[in-house]
Amino acid sequence: MSKPKNAFEIFRFLDKSNCGQCGEKTCLAFAGAVFLGQQRIRECPKLSPEILERFGEEPDATGSREPSPEDRLEKLKSEITLIDLAKAAERVGAICSGRKLTLKVLGKDFSVYEKGNLTTEIHINPWVAAPFLSYILYGQGLPASGKWVPYRELRGGRDGYPLFQKRCEEPMKKVADVYTSLFDDIVHVFGGKQVDKQFESDISVVLHPLPKVPVMICYWLPEDGMDSSLHIFFDETADRNLDIGSVFTLGTGLAQMFTKISLRHGFDART
Ligand code: SF4
Repeated sequence: MSKPKNAFEIFRFLDKSNCGQCGEKTCLAFAGAVFLGQQRIRECPKLSPEILERFGEEPDATGSREPSPEDRLEKLKSEITLIDLAKAAERVGAICSGRKLTLKVLGKDFSVYEKGNLTTEIHINPWVAAPFLSYILYGQGLPASGKWVPYRELRGGRDGYPLFQKRCEEPMKKVADVYTSLFDDIVHVFGGKQVDKQFESDISVVLHPLPKVPVMICYWLPEDGMDSSLHIFFDETADRNLDIGSVFTLGTGLAQMFTKISLRHGFDART
């Protein structure tokens, strides 16, 4: 395809669901960002290989796309059928009863059966389900060290940090700016805990998306003409208790969830 003349020539190929997985608020904003060279078309996970080819994208050396989140989830479920759930539960801080392993995700029970099927007290989102299974399958189960590090200091996190900032820290900061109850929700709805202020922040809260993968959110209020800021920290063991891709998925999933919650309360943090 010759170079698009405007953003609408890109937009017409998009899914138009405004799902936000590309990091933009809408498909139209994504089309504009691609047109301006600020995004690559392959960042939209909903495009077929044929559409990508039209834009001259080769997703990888074999020309095939990365597996979709749904495919990845199915693969992880099939891998669960091959492991001893009781041993895995001991390793990752879960409870195993009968044929079911259960652990707390954001303070709520989340379970998997030996056949790989999932049950939970909360809605099963791929951004929670895939890291949950990956944690059980491959997490080393190391106890938290108490040393907090940013995403870029985790093994494999440096290259992906700009995208992590864009999809996780920036949207979460926008939520914290407009929806002042965010940190109360984290404590009261998601089983989080307010902790002593870290790194001279104004608010520091810790939550557990997975038992041995604590996440600390630090927020600095605006001051002396300086904008507010928000940063996410992980225990330094996070890259061994979870693969870096799943750490990314959890962070961006949390940001999406908080954005939706603030919207439900009438605060639009997407601008
Ligand atoms: S990922 Fe972005 S461009 Fe693709 S459907 Fe979702 S919002 Fe639209």
